[in-house]
Amino acid sequence: MKFNPFLEAIKTYESGKDMDLIAKEFGLKEVIKLASNENPYGTSLKAKDAIANNAHLAHLYPDDTMSELKQALVQKYDILNENLIIGSGSDQIIEYIVHAKLDHSKAYLQCGVSFAMYEIYAKQLGAKVYKTLSITHDLNQLYELYQKHKNEIKVIFLCLPNNPLGECLDVKDVYDFLEKIDEDCLVAIDGAYNEFASFKDSKKHINPKELIDKYANAVYLGTFSKLYGLGGMRVGYGIASKEIISTFYKLRAPFNVTNLSLKAAVAALSDKDFIQRTLENNFSQMKIYEEFAEKHQIKYIPSYTNFITYFFDEKNSADLSEKLLKNGIIIRNLQSYGLNAVRISIGTAYENSRFFEEFSKIF
Ligand SMILES: *Cc1c(COP(=O)(O)O)cnc(C)c1O
Repeated sequence: MKFNPFLEAIKTYESGKDMDLIAKEFGLKEVIKLASNENPYGTSLKAKDAIANNAHLAHLYPDDTMSELKQALVQKYDILNENLIIGSGSDQIIEYIVHAKLDHSKAYLQCGVSFAMYEIYAKQLGAKVYKTLSITHDLNQLYELYQKHKNEIKVIFLCLPNNPLGECLDVKDVYDFLEKIDEDCLVAIDGAYNEFASFKDSKKHINPKELIDKYANAVYLGTFSKLYGLGGMRVGYGIASKEIISTFYKLRAPFNVTNLSLKAAVAALSDKDFIQRTLENNFSQMKIYEEFAEKHQIKYIPSYTNFITYFFDEKNSADLSEKLLKNGIIIRNLQSYGLNAVRISIGTAYENSRFFEEFSKIF
C-alpha cells in the first residue's frame, strides 16, 4: 500500500515506558518511573474527587463549549474567551499550529534539541525543520537562521523552559527576539514547564496576556499534564489573538476533551496548596541531583523544570538506562536526540533515593 510519502521521514514518538509492563517483563515488585515528567505527588485530591463525582456523566458527550474550564482559565490569565482554545493535551495545539501555518513548501525553526512533537507534526505535512547548532536556545543563532530562511520559515517554536534539556531564557530577551520577527511568522512559546521556571526565577515568568497583547503573532501553550498532575487526563490549551484562535477552531474535532478531563482540570486549578507543595518539593529534591552530579563530575544544565538532564563522557546513556530499567527504575535515554545523556524526572524523596541507590551501583 502507498502512504503519504512525507511520513517516511518520521521517527515515531518514543514515550516513557509503562510501569506495569516493565514490572511484568523483569519480574519486579516495585517499578519507579522517572521518565515522563509527571507530578510524582500524583493528582490533587480535589481533582480526584471531581473525577469520581462526575463518573455518572461518562455516557454523555462533554459540553463542547468547555465553558467551565474556559472561564477558569480566562480568569487565571485575565484574557478573553476568544483568546483561548483547549486541546487534548497541548500536543493537540501544537498540531493546530503546524497545520494552520505549514505545508511542504514551508519550514519551522527550533533550537538544536527540543520537544520531539514539533518535528513530527511538521514532517506529516512535508514541512522542513531548521535547527540551530546550539542544542539549547541561543537567540542569536535562532535569529541568524531565521534571517537566512525568512521566506520559508512560518513558525518558530521556543520551548521555555526546554524539554528535554531544562534551560530557560529571560522573558526580556524573548521579547527582544519577538520584536525582530515578521508578523506573518507565528511564534509558539511552549510553556509546559513555565510554572516551574517562574517559581525558580521570576525573570523567566511568561505572562500569556502580556505576550499576546504585545505580539499578535505569538501563541502561548500550557498543559495540565506536568505540574497539575493530570497527564492521564489529556488537557492542554493555547492562548493567542482572536484571529489565530478562530483559525485553530477550524482544525478542531468536536468533543476533543472528555468531560471528566474538563472537570478534573477545573478542580486542579483550584488546589493552590497542592501546586505550591509540588513546586517546593521539586526544587529541594533537585538539589540532591545537582550535588550528586557535581560530586561525580557528571555534566548537567541547571534546570528550570521538573527534570534534570545528565550528560556523560565515557559511560553510555543507553547502557545506563537499560541497567536501571532491569532494576525497576525508568528514566529517559536521550540517544534518539543524538545525545549521550539521560533525562530524569525529579521524583518524591523516596523515589529519588531509590534512583541514587541503583544508579550508584552501576555508575
Ligand atoms: C509534556 C509536554 C507537552 C504536552 O503535553 P500534553 O500532555 O500533550 O499537554 C508539550 N510541550 C512540552 C515541552 C512538554 O514537555
